[in-house]
Amino acid sequence: MKSQGRAAFWLGLAWIMAGTLCVSGSRAMQSDADIPDADERRPEFPAWIVTRLESLNPDNAESYFLLGEEVIDAATSKTEETLARRLFGLAFELDRRDGSPTWVAPSSCIALASIARLESDARWLRALANRIDPRYAPPAWRESVSGGAVSSVAFTTAEAVGETRAGNGIQARNLLGKPGVRELLLRYGKLLGFSAATGAVWQIDQWAGGWPCRECGNERVVFRPDTDPPSYRECYTCRGNPGPVLSPAQLIAQLRFESRLLHGISRSWGAQLAIDMGAPLREPVADELAAVLGIDADKPYWRSGWNATPDARVTSSPTLDSTNTSDQNDSQELPDD
Ligand SMILES: [Zn+2]
Repeated sequence: MKSQGRAAFWLGLAWIMAGTLCVSGSRAMQSDADIPDADERRPEFPAWIVTRLESLNPDNAESYFLLGEEVIDAATSKTEETLARRLFGLAFELDRRDGSPTWVAPSSCIALASIARLESDARWLRALANRIDPRYAPPAWRESVSGGAVSSVAFTTAEAVGETRAGNGIQARNLLGKPGVRELLLRYGKLLGFSAATGAVWQIDQWAGGWPCRECGNERVVFRPDTDPPSYRECYTCRGNPGPVLSPAQLIAQLRFESRLLHGISRSWGAQLAIDMGAPLREPVADELAAVLGIDADKPYWRSGWNATPDARVTSSPTLDSTNTSDQNDSQELPDD
């Protein structure tokens, strides 16, 4: 990380102390200590949940979503929270299986976002919902700019700024060339800390055009000729850290701008700064959801554990042990990006 970046981080951290405390507070509320889990060794789902689980049919994705909502509403243990997460994940996968998702898939993303433990995961899930159905975009953006898929334009614009900041000039120029991005920058570019939006667009273009590093191609190191064994030195041009050199004020303005673009996706730019230190946004890709949740959509039948076929019958009530045997990844957290 650049020294400016570090300085900005600490400066930002000082500025947003209150915000950070809020983030810690909300996380503490979600921590395991607050969830009564004394019975973790042999928990049993209440009978009504078991009955409903056994009645689920993969032809009806909605039923998975609705049960997930009821389970999370009544959840008293981490096991039930994990079950709800899986139900939402299955609803998502089953709903989009035929290539034409209904409201269930994006709603499942929103539900998963509401119980995500990391703000970056919640943001990714909301962006995914929004990508599947632009109606899940924050209403303000649909009103403020004409066109149906404005929210994805807002997301693309935020991505473009992030890639520019990271020195990924090729990706940034590609994103800047997408429909609506330049218009959005012109309209709201002043938030990037310039007196005129045209200046902001010009500066972003300059930064995007100036990278990747001409000396090392963002490899950060350069081969030393005539050395045996081959050796490398740090790139003199980017000093091993590609991307424009930003002042703390510029970095903060960029993060604030991205947060405003993603209003509703990111709760606050301070939270993002505290969590990912200004890393570029992660692309919302529907095919990744099952993998990051550790869900196998080919096992949609609950028979004292998740099964691929409805044949296996249940003779005893489910326990955490049986849940774990059928799916060891169930409790896995979404990975950090
Ligand atoms: Zn370089």
